[in-house]
Amino acid sequence: MSTTGYPHIAIIGCGASGITAALHVREQLGLNSFTIFERNGGPGGVWLENTYPGAACDVPSQYYSSASTLNPSWSSHYSGRSEIQAYWAKLHSEQGLDKHTRYHLECKRAIWSDRANQWTLTFCNGLNDESIDVVADIIIAGIGGFSIPNMQTDSLPGIDTFRGPVFHTSRWNHSIDLRGKRVGVIGNGCSAAQLVPALSADPSTEVINFVRTPQWYLRRHNEPFSAWIKWVYRNVPLANRLARWILLLVIDMTSPMFHRNGTKLRTKTEKNSAAYIRQTAPEKYMDFLIPKFSLGAKRMIYDPGYLESLHRPNVQLVYNNGITQVTEYGVILKNGETRKLDVIVLATGFDTVTFLTSMVIRGRNGADLKEVWDKKGGAEAYYCSLVPQFPNLYMLGGPNSASGFQSHKFTSVISVIFMVECQVRFVCKVIQHMLQVKASYVEPTPQADARFNSWVQKELQDTVYGMDKVQSWYKTASGKIHTVWPKSGLAFYWMMMFPKWDEMEFVGGRRPDATTSFVLAWTALIAAVFGVCTQYSLSHYIKNNSTSTPTTLGIFEQRFRAVCGMEKEEG
Ligand SMILES: Cc1cc2nc3c(=O)[nH]c(=O)nc-3n(C[C@H](O)[C@H](O)[C@H](O)COP(=O)(O)OP(=O)(O)OC[C@H]3O[C@@H](n4cnc5c(N)ncnc54)[C@H](O)[C@@H]3O)c2cc1C
Repeated sequence: MSTTGYPHIAIIGCGASGITAALHVREQLGLNSFTIFERNGGPGGVWLENTYPGAACDVPSQYYSSASTLNPSWSSHYSGRSEIQAYWAKLHSEQGLDKHTRYHLECKRAIWSDRANQWTLTFCNGLNDESIDVVADIIIAGIGGFSIPNMQTDSLPGIDTFRGPVFHTSRWNHSIDLRGKRVGVIGNGCSAAQLVPALSADPSTEVINFVRTPQWYLRRHNEPFSAWIKWVYRNVPLANRLARWILLLVIDMTSPMFHRNGTKLRTKTEKNSAAYIRQTAPEKYMDFLIPKFSLGAKRMIYDPGYLESLHRPNVQLVYNNGITQVTEYGVILKNGETRKLDVIVLATGFDTVTFLTSMVIRGRNGADLKEVWDKKGGAEAYYCSLVPQFPNLYMLGGPNSASGFQSHKFTSVISVIFMVECQVRFVCKVIQHMLQVKASYVEPTPQADARFNSWVQKELQDTVYGMDKVQSWYKTASGKIHTVWPKSGLAFYWMMMFPKWDEMEFVGGRRPDATTSFVLAWTALIAAVFGVCTQYSLSHYIKNNSTSTPTTLGIFEQRFRAVCGMEKEEG
């Protein structure tokens, strides 16, 4: 523990997870001894970074809010990125987290000391490249699953030779004026579905969308909240909270189509989705647009106007004709055709495989997290949060903690905010227990970890992610499903409510480090020498002044009496 006697908690990342963790550490544990370290210059995580035109959330606003401070003022059913960013930044500052947050510090390394039972984190200061070491007792990592762009440049040979700007959706280059330009958008996941209609709204911008695999779509109706709904949320107590719980329950209950038993509902939803695609998109693309894989095996898209935008004269869809080469002025396709481009935008998603191993993490006995996970065929964690041999290291949004469940009734996926809150509550319970039993660190037992993860993988085989072999960001290249949770949001909530103490090892007694051992040894030696000398001088003194046999206690008693001038009276 730190010199204050409280554990120093390093929270990495100041997105929704980091902010939620800080609030819970303060409320649930009553601790202020935490610091948030963030590589960016402000809070908000993905909502600060993803400034591409059209960036927005797929989860209804009430449900995509912090349970600690619900927002009665959302402007519409689904919010855009700037409104969400402003919400998290306001929450961060109103809750006084500014003084706990250090910006421009990117964590590069975390090394556990077996001697001190503490982590040493090494940060790189993004402003001056300086390296800073920080010691912490506990790490809560909320670095997000979408914070490393997956550039996929390996599949774009020659990309370095392209003369125009190339950037990823999450690193939008605002200095480029896209009016009158030919913009190649690579990819058709959620980001591209938002970007293409927003970019092509300007008829002078020509958008050429290069795609590989089709997607399932459902229509997303996004209405602004009427004045009276806003009034209700502002003035009726609990209305906001009730709306959040209703959304959560309805989305959870209408998601069983992703399970083996939900085939009937899934088939029906596939039909609805196919009908929506046929009604909305141009006929000429129909042979490509309707997927052959099961709905849900890849993230279903709640269409913000993508299919409709394919009708625009300034939008072209290029499919079944992959890019074989990027040249100085554009791309060459599989069939030999060339397309001239001025700008290339990579809407190629994120690296969802790496998790914490974007940093070097070494745990007990020098165990390396990347090696541990490589041996297991991909990331996994006990209760999606802890890994054996990596004491006091908690992951938020860790392996298998994202929900892939999506509702066919309400166009929504289960909110990441809800899942993170469940995890943070669990993490704080474990820390609290550790402090109560006066342990120095906690980690799951290898047996419990193996049991939990084999259960997760087994359950996943009964979901559409396991049953359908299509590749998606839910899986590693070798097919291990490492991102999604196999059950409902409520099942996750319930599991996280009740930590199983016997499945974790709480190891006590902080072992002193080398310096402390040295000081302690010398102190003991000096005390021993002093004790012997005192005993000798006292026994000598008593021998000359008393007839009784001196014992150590007796000597101190007699010395005490002598000091207080009591011998005379007694004598
Ligand atoms: C465009 C987009 C749309 C999305 N839409 C939805 C949606 O509709 N519904 C939904 O539930 N989820 C959605 N998500 C997922 C989204 O990531 C989560 O909802 C949520 O924002 C996760 O919060 P987080 O704090 O865990 O991660 P992030 O928001 O990614 O925050 C992580 C923070 O950690 C920082 N960080 C990372 N590495 C380091 C390091 N080494 N050192 C220091 N700091 C570091 C990052 O800079 C970032 O600020 C979307 C994501 C994107 C990109």
